[in-house]
Amino acid sequence: MGIAAGEEQSDWTEPGTHHVADGVYRIPLPLPHDRLRAVNVYAVVDDADLVLIDGGWALDVARRHLERALGELDRELGDIGRFLVTHIHRDHYTQAAVIGRELGIRVSLGDGERPGLEAINRPGRDPYASQIHKLRIAGAAPLITQLEARRESRALDLSVWRPPDDWITDGAQLPAGSRTLTAIRTPGHTQGHVVFADPADEVLFAGDHVLPHITPSIGLEPVHADLPLGDYLASLAAMRDLPDMRLLPAHGPATTSVHARVDELVAHHDARLAASARAVTRGASTAYDAARALRWTRRERGFDDLDLFNQTLATTETLAHLDLLVAQGRLAATVTDAGTRFRVPD
Ligand SMILES: [Zn+2]
Repeated sequence: MGIAAGEEQSDWTEPGTHHVADGVYRIPLPLPHDRLRAVNVYAVVDDADLVLIDGGWALDVARRHLERALGELDRELGDIGRFLVTHIHRDHYTQAAVIGRELGIRVSLGDGERPGLEAINRPGRDPYASQIHKLRIAGAAPLITQLEARRESRALDLSVWRPPDDWITDGAQLPAGSRTLTAIRTPGHTQGHVVFADPADEVLFAGDHVLPHITPSIGLEPVHADLPLGDYLASLAAMRDLPDMRLLPAHGPATTSVHARVDELVAHHDARLAASARAVTRGASTAYDAARALRWTRRERGFDDLDLFNQTLATTETLAHLDLLVAQGRLAATVTDAGTRFRVPD
């Protein structure tokens, strides 16, 4: 099979099973109150086998949707042979962890997620700690004050964060239906993110690494990465080095070309790097200052028009861009008690 057309449907979140490649069905599961709206789980099926790529968020409504969709394929949850999970985020991992434990199904996750998962399971962990640490470096004291006011005291349910049954290594060959998928480490969105490629049939299960409509957040995870945007751009370049494939993303419809979207994402980050450098040239000295000077979302909104969650994301995103500019020698930085100060190099 060559590269087939992308999905033409108007709403990619429509429940059910969407046939996207030989023996592959896209199953959108709802993400209530989440701006992403839904997450795609992919069922890879043949007569003997059923493997799920990602598991969705552990919510009753998502589980009902998954059961109904598998029913359309004459399967049930108990028929799942294995979950291959692209990364640690709750909308990908937690339902696999819960169903896996309940039904004795093997759950596999990239080995680069191990430190993050251990951090989540550390007793007494503050779930905001990593964000607050980054915001401090970003000089974003006002955001820290607001986040701390919202901090919930109730304990997290750690049962959804149990460790996987095994860790996927880079280059692992993974049987799924009649296919053999190659796991490829793609750090950036998270440090342990993996994609699953079937180059022979030109299909890529991309998780959140390459998304058709949005740019994935960088380094939103419980452990600190030194240069997450540098990692991410290297992981995009790695996709460009492979043959082009159909893009099967975790959010959004299937599209025809991984390469086309990678090029757009690279261009987006080039433009953001230039705009971030310009913000410093014009006087912003912290990542928070620079984030406030930039425009956000496709609608070019001002920073003050974003809610607290998105202001936090915008600030850590800007920090990732400024840190990369320093690594590239395009900016200089000094670490102070009030956060990292950026400047044009002498
Ligand atoms: Zn994610």
